[in-house]
Amino acid sequence: MVARAGTRSRAAKPVGPPLRSRARRILARLAAANPDWGPTLSFTSPFELLVATILAAQAQDERINQVTRTLFQKYRGPSDYAAARKGVLERDIKATGFFNQKAKALRAMSSGLLEEFGGEVPSDMESLTRLHGVGRKTASIVLGAAFGVPAIAVDRHVARVAERLGLSRAAPGGIEESLRALYPKKDWIKVTWCFVLHGRRVCRPTPACPVCPINDLCPYPKKTKALPAPRPIPRALPSRAAPRRSR
Ligand code: SF4
Repeated sequence: MVARAGTRSRAAKPVGPPLRSRARRILARLAAANPDWGPTLSFTSPFELLVATILAAQAQDERINQVTRTLFQKYRGPSDYAAARKGVLERDIKATGFFNQKAKALRAMSSGLLEEFGGEVPSDMESLTRLHGVGRKTASIVLGAAFGVPAIAVDRHVARVAERLGLSRAAPGGIEESLRALYPKKDWIKVTWCFVLHGRRVCRPTPACPVCPINDLCPYPKKTKALPAPRPIPRALPSRAAPRRSR
């Protein structure tokens, strides 16, 4: 997932009853069309999810899951990453791409966790975003998927879908704020994953509008009339320790 995190600095679009009603119907249909909605990175602890999410920047989740399958056997906690010898961690995560920056981020994040939080991943936005390499998008994924704390993570898929649906015309930084104003807190985690999966599977850069389950609710002026050329459809993988989800 590529981060385009929201901030609270921009004013949200005013939300009237028609928009709220359309947003609710959109979410219900997306949830029905993507019954496997939920985290697509494998993890067994908040720390593993934090590591996997940092590694997932500009990479496919499937590739990250392949790498972490062995990585998490070797590196059990933040002290292992903080103490990893130069070159060794880089080699172990090479397949995720941008491995030098990611190794640096993992070492710094792990050191911060040890120094400031006794090695435990905090469960609030303010503390999480104090860690090196952890922005609002990464923190929101960890809060929602590992702790069940309501949060909306805005990646490129969520941003694209929200914009095409006319749920947020704010600049990328304001999308999180717009969606938070539109949906009740209990739905924030569901909004994240339903929008992510819809953006990966149907509303891709070239959208598959003819088979879109929310076509009649979408005002996007450039809807496609024919299906784009076929390509593999990413599937959500069951996480090894997913929290309870509110449906
Ligand atoms: S109709 Fe097309 S543009 Fe609108 S949400 Fe569906 S796939 Fe995306």
